[in-house]
Amino acid sequence: MRQFDYKRATDTDAALAAHAGQRSAYLAGGTTLIDLVKLDVMQPERMVDVNRLALSDIEPVDDGRLRVGATVRNTALAYNERVVRDYKVLSEALLQGASRQLRNRATTAGNVMQRVRCSYFRDGISPCNKREPGSGCSAIDGHNREVFAVLGTSEHCIAVHPSDMCVAMAAIGATVEVQGPNGRREIAFGDFHKMPGDTPQIEHALEDDELITHVTLDAPMRDAGSTYIKLRDRSSYQFALASCAAIVALDGDRIREARLALGGVGTKPWRCQEAEAELIGAAVDDMAAFEAVARRAMEGATPFKHNAFKIPLARKAIVQAIKDAAARAGQGALA
Ligand SMILES: Cc1cc2nc3c(=O)[nH]c(=O)nc-3n(C[C@H](O)[C@H](O)[C@H](O)COP(=O)(O)OP(=O)(O)OC[C@H]3O[C@@H](n4cnc5c(N)ncnc54)[C@H](O)[C@@H]3O)c2cc1C
Repeated sequence: MRQFDYKRATDTDAALAAHAGQRSAYLAGGTTLIDLVKLDVMQPERMVDVNRLALSDIEPVDDGRLRVGATVRNTALAYNERVVRDYKVLSEALLQGASRQLRNRATTAGNVMQRVRCSYFRDGISPCNKREPGSGCSAIDGHNREVFAVLGTSEHCIAVHPSDMCVAMAAIGATVEVQGPNGRREIAFGDFHKMPGDTPQIEHALEDDELITHVTLDAPMRDAGSTYIKLRDRSSYQFALASCAAIVALDGDRIREARLALGGVGTKPWRCQEAEAELIGAAVDDMAAFEAVARRAMEGATPFKHNAFKIPLARKAIVQAIKDAAARAGQGALA
């Protein structure tokens, strides 16, 4: 049996101090961390409980942004009045994640920091470059269907980033606020998660001694409609095979501005900036244009033995998401 130390922090300075000096992990909802400790994949010497920190508020910022505390539960965020009104894509993404019990427990920062669901990473014994750098990637020639990527992979790791919430945040645009021993800093959401490259063990831009305190969502796009389409093996309690967050604003019957991000197919929450730029000016019912944008978004995708089906599946999710978001934009206040 492995022993670990438990500390409950009541303010961020105390949390940082308790975390320093040994192999520590912040404990939020515990829905990733406790699993991985039980599996012996994560072996913290100390868990620093952050649930009592004053980081559970969702507050409007004067410039139109929305600041979400690190310990806001996924359920609270999904049903927040402002999120439901201005960030429907985020509400929908959250409500399609995990199960009701898990969403009641899981936090915003924990979701951002959740680890991959690759079975070779989680079994604790197979070669896995993320768990044990240099040991190899068992997934590349192994069973690589559900939670394996076709975008952003490397010869060292092909695990998908599993979050739904983060896909919506990638489309909306956000800033991760962190606090460390030397003060606060902000990290653009798009720079937060790292592709595996040669260092799959480095998953994000957070330093070991830093704590996430907030995620601040960009101001909502004016007059936009948005949606999150998630395609999976069963309709609940299942990770995405392919998903798409779409935000679309119209000028008459043409698209004025658009944002697209993908889940289930990328090694990080996958924003499609080049593809979304090609939507601008398209007519709201131009399915051929939507299909061309979907093809563009999946350009450069590299399939593995069991997940090639994800490429056409993701294209379908993209087309449907653009269509639904545009329809909502067209309905004005109902979007
Ligand atoms: C059966 C099951 C099904 C699931 N299905 C889905 C799904 O469909 N879609 C989806 O998106 N997710 C899914 N999840 C994942 C779930 O969303 C995450 O486990 C959850 O969001 C993690 O949040 P948490 O608060 O429980 O984090 P914890 O488990 O407490 O922590 C996770 C990680 O974040 C770190 N951490 C926590 N707070 C901070 C902080 N403030 N600063 C720095 N680091 C911090 C921890 O140290 C740890 O490394 C599923 C999980 C399970 C168990």
